[in-house]
Order: sequence, then C-alpha cells, then structure tokens
Amino acid sequence: MIGGGYAGTLAANRLRMRPGVDITLVNPRPAFVDRIRLHQFVAGTGEAEVDYGTLLGEEVRLVVDSATRIDTAARTVELASGRALDYDYVIYAVGSTGAAPSVPGAADFSFSLSELELAQRLRTRLGEVPLNGQVTVVGGGLTGIETAAELAERGRAVTLICGTTLAPTFSAPGRRSIAKWLSRHGVAVFEHDPVAEVRPDAVVLASGVVRSSALTIWAAGFGVPGLARVSGLRTDVLGRLLTDETLTSVDDDRVVAAGDAAGPSDRPLRMSSYAAGPLGAQAADTVLSRIAGTEPEVLSLAFSGECVSLGRRSAVRQLAGRDDSPVNIYVGGRAGAAVKELICTLGVGKIRREARKPGSLIWPKGGPRPEQSAAAPRGVTSP
Ligand SMILES: Cc1cc2nc3c(=O)[nH]c(=O)nc-3n(C[C@H](O)[C@H](O)[C@H](O)COP(=O)(O)OP(=O)(O)OC[C@H]3O[C@@H](n4cnc5c(N)ncnc54)[C@H](O)[C@@H]3O)c2cc1C
Repeated sequence: MIGGGYAGTLAANRLRMRPGVDITLVNPRPAFVDRIRLHQFVAGTGEAEVDYGTLLGEEVRLVVDSATRIDTAARTVELASGRALDYDYVIYAVGSTGAAPSVPGAADFSFSLSELELAQRLRTRLGEVPLNGQVTVVGGGLTGIETAAELAERGRAVTLICGTTLAPTFSAPGRRSIAKWLSRHGVAVFEHDPVAEVRPDAVVLASGVVRSSALTIWAAGFGVPGLARVSGLRTDVLGRLLTDETLTSVDDDRVVAAGDAAGPSDRPLRMSSYAAGPLGAQAADTVLSRIAGTEPEVLSLAFSGECVSLGRRSAVRQLAGRDDSPVNIYVGGRAGAAVKELICTLGVGKIRREARKPGSLIWPKGGPRPEQSAAAPRGVTSP
C-alpha cells in the first residue's frame, strides 16, 4: 500500500478479509492526516492528526517512508531511505495536493493548506498577523469557502476571491445561503475577478483592483504526486494513474489505484474523502479477487451531495443526484453543521470499523458511472 490517507488505510484494513495476506503501508508521516480538518487546524478550532495505532488493524505493518519509484519489472517499491520493498500487488493511494500556482508572486507570497506541513506553516504565519490584518483566501471552491468562514468566525478580516462563481458546484439556493452567511460575517467576496498577481502585502485582481493583504492563502488548484509518471505508468494529464473500471493500472495488473490519485477510464471521480473510502475498499477487493483467481467487480459509486462548513455552527449540505449534479435542495444552518460534523467523524470512523471488522464498508452503488462527475474537484476552481 503506498499512501496512508482515507483510501490507503481503508484498503489496508480491508485486505485482512483474507487471512495470511502480508500487508505493508508506506506513508511519509507517522500519523494519519485527517485532511478534511486542515482548515480547522489552521484556524485553531480542531486537530488534524490521528494516531495510526487507532486506525489500522494489527496485521498492517506501517513503514514511515516515501515511495520514490515503483519498479514494475522487479516488483519492488523503492523508498526515499534507500530501502526497497518487494510486492505481489501495489495499491497506489498517494492522494492529492494543491497545484503549484502559476500566477505571478503566488508561489513566493501565498500560503497553502493542502498538506499538513503547509498548513502548519500557514498556522504559524497566521499567528503573526494581528487580528485586524487583512487575510485573503483565493479560491471560491469548498476548501476556500471553509477556510474563509473558519477564519471569519474567529474574528479575522477576510476577503474571498473567486475566479468564477462562489461554490460553482452548488445549486443557486445553496450558493445564496453560503453568500448570505459570508456577508453576515463580514467576508468580502469577489466573483468573476481572478487574482492576477500576489504581492507581499496585497493581491491584484484581473480587473485592476488592488486589495491589501497581510496574509494570502491559496486554496485553488488540484495536483497529484508524480510517482506513477516517474515509475513509467500511464497517467492522465494531471498525473492520476490511469486504470480500468476495476481500478487496475492499464499498464500492469499488479498495480491497483484508489482515492484522488486514481483515474479510472480517464474519467476520475471528484476529489473527495467521500469517494476515497469506497475506492480504497474496491481496490482491496480487486486485489483479493486476483489472489483468489476470480473476476474483480467494476467500479460503482453513487454520490448524494456535497457539504461545506461555515465555521463551527453552520454548514450547507447540498443534495445531489447519483451522478453528483446538484438539485435545488439543501440543508443549512445548525442542521447542516450537524450533518457536516457527522460526515467528518464518519470519515475516520469507517477506517476504524474496517480495522475491527474487515469487509464492513458498504457504499451506495449507482450505475452507469457518470461520463464525468458533475462537480469539479474541490480545489479545481480558477483563482
Ligand atoms: C482543507 C481541506 C478540506 C477538505 N474537506 C473535504 C470534505 O469536507 N469532504 C470531502 O469529501 N473531501 C474534502 N477534502 C478533500 C479530501 O481531503 C481528499 O479528497 C482526500 O484526502 C483524498 O483521500 P486519499 O486517501 O486519496 O488521499 P490523501 O488523504 O491525500 O492521502 C494520501 C496519502 O499518501 C501519502 N503519500 C503521498 N505520496 C506518497 C509517496 N510517494 N509515498 C508514500 N506515501 C505517499 C500522503 O502523504 C498521504 O498521507 C478536503 C481537502 C482539504 C485540503
């Protein structure tokens, strides 16, 4: 198993359905990162690290290291430490990161929260900015909105820059509800006016507007680690491992992908912890089928909506069809917040349950799989 996020840990626990399977999980950090709480970690309203000891079944061996190359000919995973691990099957679950922003100044003067270490750096910087200092969040997708809201509720002066519309994957009523909350909490929202330049103390918008900014947070863009490419395995344009509908690499049937780093049939599902769990389970099932000499099942996962937190006391749960397209119904306010918290808690809860009872995860199936997930990935909004 390469990558100990939502998909990799779920897959590792599920492989224990078959006794005698030797399972190794390679991850660069000794603790699990609950990425969906990184905005809370930055704002000081929650923690994002979880002890693997509470998540993984006893038989799973954790190796704290980074995979640098999969040698499919020798069937080894090369690690940054110089070691190499032999394998019969690899589950490729390296997840996602933010994309390197190409806007002038953004790489030098903005901060990201897409990974733990980046979020730690951002949190430290935030601590140096006075409470009345202007904080600019770039990205009108769910990560940008959640970050802006979390900070505004903590009394920060926040500007949210959306390259296009606010929450483009939500219905009009859902979007209006988010906009109303942001306005009530003093967040200045700019729509259809992307960032053209980031300066140490300001952002410049395409329209020419210059906003002073003591801290600029870049929450737009989606990228994946380059491990598949480096290993000579075919990927989509963003670097997700290309697989068939059983999540098996199109180049090698001993490599199976799951989570944000998987590109089944070049029609990836949207970036989400929601999909990562079932994809991890399905990847494990595919490996177990191959070991047993049976035909693996094809991917089938129905969506039901998305959820965006608005601080700790409110959220909008947007309902959607099985293909992820939003309908004009949402659950907002405190009820929305309760739903959102339940979803977040279930994220790690499902992994723990799979550790206790391998094979326990079931998920809503829907078919046929959509041509393209209707919603754009979380981070995929233009600045
Ligand atoms: C602030 C924020 C809020 C979010 N909120 C939500 C939400 O509310 N709902 C939702 O559905 N989604 C949300 N997401 C998206 C969600 O976090 C991701 O879609 C999810 O983490 C994907 O799970 P994964 O297991 O594929 O990858 P990840 O969780 O990214 O895990 C991948 C793991 O692989 C490791 N890895 C990477 N490269 C290597 C390597 N070379 N060798 C070994 N290990 C490696 C990584 O360090 C990591 O531990 C949010 C994301 C962010 C940043």
